[in-house]
Amino acid sequence: MKLTWKPYNLQLKYPFTIANYSRTMTPVVLTEIEYEGIVGYGEASLPQYLGETQTSVCEFLQKVNLSQFNDINRIEDILSYVDSIATGNTAAKASVDIALHDLAGKIKGKPWYSLLGLDKEKAPPTTYTIGMDTDEIVKKKTKEANEKFKILKVKLGGENDKKMIEVIRSVTDLPLAIDANQGWADKESALDMIYWLQEKGVVMIEQPMSKADLDGNAWLTERSPLPTFADESVQRLADMSRLKGVFSGINIKLMKCTGMNEAWKMIQLAPSLNLRVMLGCMTETSCAISAAAQLSPAVEFADLDGNLLITNDCFEGVSQFGGNIILSDLPGIGVRKI
Ligand code: MG
Repeated sequence: MKLTWKPYNLQLKYPFTIANYSRTMTPVVLTEIEYEGIVGYGEASLPQYLGETQTSVCEFLQKVNLSQFNDINRIEDILSYVDSIATGNTAAKASVDIALHDLAGKIKGKPWYSLLGLDKEKAPPTTYTIGMDTDEIVKKKTKEANEKFKILKVKLGGENDKKMIEVIRSVTDLPLAIDANQGWADKESALDMIYWLQEKGVVMIEQPMSKADLDGNAWLTERSPLPTFADESVQRLADMSRLKGVFSGINIKLMKCTGMNEAWKMIQLAPSLNLRVMLGCMTETSCAISAAAQLSPAVEFADLDGNLLITNDCFEGVSQFGGNIILSDLPGIGVRKI
């Protein structure tokens, strides 16, 4: 097997703003694994605040020697080897995992949802994210999204949370998922806010308080009328057991957990820890989004809109028609290069 890669910069349709942070571009690295003339595609997405860069990914990939493997059915062994090369580097590892899954599915001639025994009709609708912005832009983005989606995601955690919700509610009645991105510091006022949000048609809250404040998040989860989902508090499979009782659920992202192989294990472990599951993403091309979408029929909430937020997607695969995740019938992760 031969691994190759190249850096690529995703241009954002709108500047992406979360609590205390804004950007107009997301760097990624696109990978390919070739075996007997068949090519699998993968991707590492590298939002600046997570620490990996195109340079660090390329350095990691330099160390990956796939020429020692000639059996695509040894995905578990290959990925254990990749994981053992260095700690961290989760997006770099995901870029190998995704390409390997794409290749293996292509060789087997089936998409992964089918190989995993999932019914593609059971994929939940995807949320579409409305980032913080001026009232005019928020209204414009919300109006556009209102026609195309069934549930919206709103980034809060700033000073104008209630105003942001009122602006959105002035143009849509769609259910809302909230991502506070650790932005709420005080648990009592966070609880008051959650009750207020529930009255405004909010259905779930992601990462209400600091990732390190497990006691505070547990206190809030116990009292919250809405389910809470860990995002920054959970990266990989090994993080899950300590979150039992701390959150109602977890947000699994391929770039955090090293890819589809570990994400699938997390999905399967979650019920035993009384954790519900959502699948999230970074700003990504349709390559990594389609990979995550293959697992989506197994989860409750999907936040897989990253490919819709860019102007230079170089893949086509999953589509989000009418807010529904429509999985393609192409084998592997279900993508075609464009
Ligand atoms: Mg989040």
